[in-house]
Amino acid sequence: MSVILRRTSAEPHRFVSRFDTRTAMVIVSASGALPLLGIAMISPTFLKPGALPLLSAIVAFTAVTVLSAIKIGRLTDAQFAVLGSGGMIGVAVSAYLIADPSGTRAVTSMLAVVPAIAASGSPPRVTAGLTTASVLLATWLSIITLSDSGLAVTFVAVGAAVTAVLVPVILIAALRRSLLAVNGRLSVLANTDPLTRLLNRRGMLSQVEALLDKACMSRGQLWAYVVDIDHFKAVNDSLGHAAGDRVLVTIADALRHATDRTGSQEAIVSRIGGEEFLILTELQPRTPLETAILERVRSECDVTVSVGSVTVDVRASLDPRLSFGTAGESPHVEHVIDTIMHAADNALYDAKTSGRDRASHAGAVLVTWEAHTPEERGELAAEVVRRAMP
Ligand code: GH3
Ligand code: MG
Ligand code: MG
Repeated sequence: MSVILRRTSAEPHRFVSRFDTRTAMVIVSASGALPLLGIAMISPTFLKPGALPLLSAIVAFTAVTVLSAIKIGRLTDAQFAVLGSGGMIGVAVSAYLIADPSGTRAVTSMLAVVPAIAASGSPPRVTAGLTTASVLLATWLSIITLSDSGLAVTFVAVGAAVTAVLVPVILIAALRRSLLAVNGRLSVLANTDPLTRLLNRRGMLSQVEALLDKACMSRGQLWAYVVDIDHFKAVNDSLGHAAGDRVLVTIADALRHATDRTGSQEAIVSRIGGEEFLILTELQPRTPLETAILERVRSECDVTVSVGSVTVDVRASLDPRLSFGTAGESPHVEHVIDTIMHAADNALYDAKTSGRDRASHAGAVLVTWEAHTPEERGELAAEVVRRAMP
């Protein structure tokens, strides 16, 4: 049996805005600086003498920032760091060029904007760098514009400017951290079967892509085992549902133990249905896993299980245009699992019909898979985090 499959994103039909929040905020805040040039031209006393060429250069940089952000849609961390630093220097120099100190103070307050945007969606080092730069620039501007007003006024102005930068950054960073922690907990809950603490079907699917990618880059072989409890309905009927649940927990423990014992610690062990489990593993276990499972269940549980297994040959796709299904519509990783499950279920049926408490092997299925490179995987992870953010 052979099937050719391409990867797809987890939610192909979900609407995703071309802009992330961070880039949208860069566009909005930088656009606010563009009218400065017009104001300076209409009102000649607005700037210090000879400042117009420098302000023109700053406004030109700002226009480039806005246009680049609109074109790119989702700035990378490095692009944001470059445009954000340039923007803050532009704000500081524009503030310095304004003739009236009150105008300078008003523009100085804009230095708090870039670090706050950074805190909403950047790595800590980018946020820390931009916040430090913002604090230094705000301090410098406060000192040079208010030095004539005396030490006390300058001190208060520096304190106020630094507070205006730091408070939003700390607040936004704390909110973001707690949002990510809640998202992490929700993701664990959504991917875990509450009774057995094994992965549920959704959790299993979320890990299969990585396993297929890894298989493509190494030996190109996976093993899949479908494990089904024998006569489980009779357990429920005779001992009750609660006793049945306890049996499910002992079976889950036995499967964990069997995979650990056979050296397949990185196996994906999941509960995919009521009394049905799926194990996917890349390593060829030292002891055949099906033997380990059957023995462990016999010795530790009050029931027996039947096992249907299949070998999955994973080939890296050489032609990325190859796809399964109609043109332009890529199938999901679920189709790989359906293919594997179909073969393993046939083997399971054989094990059941030939007496239960035994294993049957379905032979090999071939899956052709277009693997992610580690870089693509990193970008996907970053994309997932970005989408999780409001
Ligand atoms: P076979 O050997 O052919 O697999 O027979 P079986 O009785 O195990 O299979 P069948 O499909 O007839 O019954 C499965 C039973 O599993 C029926 C259902 O009530 C029970 N079941 C499914 N989910 C749970 C659960 O979460 N807890 C309990 N206690 N029982 C469950
Ligand atoms: Mg059963
Ligand atoms: Mg069943």
